[in-house]
Amino acid sequence: MGVKEYFFNVKNTAVTIFEGMTVTFSHLLRRPITVQYPDRTPEPIENYIEDRFRGILEVDLQSCIGCLLCMKACPLNCIYIEVDRDPELGRVMTQFDIDEGKCMYCGLCTEACPTKTLRHTKEFELSTDTPDEMVLRFIEPGEKVPFYKPQKGVEPPRRPLGEILRTEIFPKLKKNLEYREKGLELIRKRIEHWEDREKLIEFAKYLKKKAGSGDTKALTDVLIEIIGDADFSHQGYNFPKELAAALASGKERVELLDPMGWGSKYLILDIKLALRIARGQSVNDLVGFDLDSILKDVEPEPPKPAAPKRPAARPAPKKPTAEAKKPAEEKKEEKPSSEEKPGEDKK
Ligand code: SF4
Ligand code: SF4
Repeated sequence: MGVKEYFFNVKNTAVTIFEGMTVTFSHLLRRPITVQYPDRTPEPIENYIEDRFRGILEVDLQSCIGCLLCMKACPLNCIYIEVDRDPELGRVMTQFDIDEGKCMYCGLCTEACPTKTLRHTKEFELSTDTPDEMVLRFIEPGEKVPFYKPQKGVEPPRRPLGEILRTEIFPKLKKNLEYREKGLELIRKRIEHWEDREKLIEFAKYLKKKAGSGDTKALTDVLIEIIGDADFSHQGYNFPKELAAALASGKERVELLDPMGWGSKYLILDIKLALRIARGQSVNDLVGFDLDSILKDVEPEPPKPAAPKRPAARPAPKKPTAEAKKPAEEKKEEKPSSEEKPGEDKK
C-alpha cells in the first residue's frame, strides 16, 4: 500500500465515523418519544393509533340492514347473524355475534358492509380467561332488533367509533376487567410514591403507624395490602395472606421473591420498606434520603387485642359420678339404649 493510499484510507475512516456519529448525536438533542403504556400515556391510547388501524370489530345495529353480506364475506365464519320475522316489527335480527378469537382482522367483512355500520375500531385490548369470552354478542338472547330502512339522501345514524364496545360490550364481556383495573391502580400508586418523595414519606408513616409496633399480625395485614393481587403462585403462595404471614414471621425472605410482571420492582421495594419499618431497621439506604429521622416521631398504633378464644365445640367428657350414674340407670330402664345387651334387660 502506498503512502497516498494509506492517508486516503485514514481520511475515509475519519469521514465515515463522523457521518455515523452525526446521526447518533442528533438523537441526543431530540425529545424522547417513548410511551410508557399502559399507565402513563400523556394522551388516550387511541390518539396514538392510526385511523386505518384494524382493531376489534363493532357493529352499530341501528344502521344495520340485515343483508348478511358480512357473514358471507368472512372466510373464517367469525360472524353469525340470525334473522327472524316478528308479527309487529317485521324482519328482525335475533342474534349478531362476532368471534374475535377467530378473527384475523382482514377487513373483508367491513368492505362488504353496504352501510359501513360494521367497522374496525381502535380497540385492541381483549384479554379474557377463555376464548369463549371473546365472542362479542351484540344482541342479547330474546332481544329483537328491526332492520334499518335506508332512505334516499339520509345518512344512516352513527355512534362514535368504539363507543358501543366500550359502553355496552366490554362491561358485559370482561368479568376480569374490574379486577385488572384494581391491580393496575395499585401498581400506579406504588410507582407514584417511589417517584415522589412526599408520597413516599406519607406511605412510610402509614407503615410505621400500622406495623411499627412489631406485632406480627399487624405486619401481616399491612403486607396483605401491599401484595394485593400480585401473583406468587409459581412460588407456592396461592393467596396473599399465605405469603404475607410467611414474610412477617420470617419463614420467607424477600430476597427470594420473584414476582412476575410490570411493576414488580416496586412491589419488592414496598415489601422491604414495610419489613424494615416493622422491625425497627434503618430504611435510609433503601429510599436514598434520611427517612429514619422523619419516622422517629411517628407513634405506632398499639396492636389490636387478640380476639377471645372461642369455647371448645364439645367439652371433654367427664367421668360419671355415683349420683350421676343413678338417673342415667333410671333412664335406661325407661328406654333401653341401642348399646344395652338384650340379656341384661330381661334380668
Ligand atoms: S375481519 Fe376478516 S376474519 Fe375478521 S370477521 Fe371480518 S372477514 Fe372475518
Ligand atoms: S353489518 Fe353491514 S354487512 Fe353485516 S348485515 Fe349489517 S348491514 Fe349487512
